Amino acid sequence: MSKQIPWPDGVRCAAAITFDVDADSILHLEHPNSAHRRVGTQSWLRYDEVAVPAIVDMYARLGLRQTFFVPGWCIERYPRMVEQILAAGHELGAHGYLHELAHTLEPEREHELMRRAIDAVEATSGRRPRGWRGPLYSFSDRTAELLAIEGFTYHSGLMAHHLPYLLRTPRGDLVELPCDWANDDWPQYVVSLDFDWLVGVRPPERAFESFIAEFETAYATGGLWIGIWHPFVSGRPSRLARIERFAEELLARGDVWVAPLEDIAQHIAHLASAETWASHVVELPYDERPLG
Ligand code: ZN
Repeated sequence: MSKQIPWPDGVRCAAAITFDVDADSILHLEHPNSAHRRVGTQSWLRYDEVAVPAIVDMYARLGLRQTFFVPGWCIERYPRMVEQILAAGHELGAHGYLHELAHTLEPEREHELMRRAIDAVEATSGRRPRGWRGPLYSFSDRTAELLAIEGFTYHSGLMAHHLPYLLRTPRGDLVELPCDWANDDWPQYVVSLDFDWLVGVRPPERAFESFIAEFETAYATGGLWIGIWHPFVSGRPSRLARIERFAEELLARGDVWVAPLEDIAQHIAHLASAETWASHVVELPYDERPLG
């Protein structure tokens, strides 16, 4: 069995730009009683309504189909935005219902909200989601099993490897397409008093030093690179222009597979079942009870 991932058509590596369309869900979760009064922050988060069409237009120019993760509540609140994503043929992945954090929920409640998130995706797209990204990378000791029960093909957001790997649960395997904060736009650009986040704002060229360092290593070693970005953060004109130039550079190389995560996950699942590639396997949960 190969240790290198055999990517389709002999390309060197795979890459995906993913956008998490959280809009103001995160504000209502963080400040349930006062979010409606925090109009300044709402205005920033609702920049998604401007950025999503701009991102969809950019992908059309690039000839790319990519993945958007959208909380169920946002799908219901912003149907026009989601229609634009679907009309262009992009993948709609699930991202919680109100962006709730899985480890804060009892298993029954986690499952109930997961079903509401699935229902929202299915109602608007006519298809159950294949992929899930835990909001804020949250993932409980039951999440993997619940995702397997609900028939998900993959999750994207854990960090136990830099290459795709398998999540083994009592209810079957899932593909994990891992993430890392090094490819997330939040630490690069966000300043928000309402979210206690005051890291500072970097210019796009500085932010891309981190993203490109990660990409070039994936390219050199035959790995997978995933950008984890937000329309209200990375969709501003200067940042989006930098993204488009980056995507053009990837496509110009001719040996990078830029694809939606569902396609990458399907390829990995096929390799794993055909036993042509020695996948890293993680059995979850790591621990069944507190160890402290
Ligand atoms: Zn999110």
